[in-house]
Amino acid sequence: MEMMNGGLKLSDELLGTFVPIILYWIYSGIYVLLGSLENYRLHTKKDEDEKNLVPKKDVVKGVLLQQAVQAVVATILFAVTGSDSESTQAHQASVFVLARQFLVAMMVLDTWQYFMHRYMHHNKFLYRHIHSQHHRLIVPYAFGALYNHPLEGLLLDTIGGALSFLASGMSPRTSIFFFSFATLKTVDDHCGLWLPGNLFHLFFRNNSAYHDIHHQLYGNKYNFSQPFFVMWDRILGTYMPYSLEKRSKGGLEARPTKECKEN
Ligand SMILES: [Zn+2]
Ligand SMILES: [Zn+2]
Repeated sequence: MEMMNGGLKLSDELLGTFVPIILYWIYSGIYVLLGSLENYRLHTKKDEDEKNLVPKKDVVKGVLLQQAVQAVVATILFAVTGSDSESTQAHQASVFVLARQFLVAMMVLDTWQYFMHRYMHHNKFLYRHIHSQHHRLIVPYAFGALYNHPLEGLLLDTIGGALSFLASGMSPRTSIFFFSFATLKTVDDHCGLWLPGNLFHLFFRNNSAYHDIHHQLYGNKYNFSQPFFVMWDRILGTYMPYSLEKRSKGGLEARPTKECKEN
């Protein structure tokens, strides 16, 4: 993309890094506004304030730190590999090719994240020092989606993103859309709401209620799959089905419909 901006050329690689970050804050900002819709919340606002083990301002700082680290690493990676988007833009890919590239990238990202995520729970050292940070949010909310240890962001998101990009063969321009899509999906899975007409819920069984189970203390041996499908949980027996029940004072709750095993 030829866009001169005060001497800084906004390459597709650069946009693929920064557009998802901007969308992250816009999309979760919308969910902050919708968070007052008590009837669609999966937990009460009171639980959000009382059960979570980290204040919101620390979450904002943590996410910004993580996004800064990832942006720097991605920029260095692009500089080192010297990938040049202009040379790959010679021909426009067909819709069929784009769909195939998206699907491959989704499968690769899901596979990488499932096994890394599950291992982070299995290995007590990694859990205690890295992944437990994300689980300080017992009641997830949208802008907490990427509240992770920076090392987890690098291992799961940056490396996972690079693998899915390379395996799918998508162009840097297509990757702007793919990484944006994956980011919005992750934010949506943490939004803590079950809103009617949510398009993600229409297309994906992995959603805000499914991932909510994983954030509960009883559910953290289940529903590791993220961010798109529930395939690996189903294949490897970590799938926890749930039903959406009405809470006594309004709102909804995702309740497991199978017994959760301790450890
Ligand atoms: Zn986890
Ligand atoms: Zn989560």
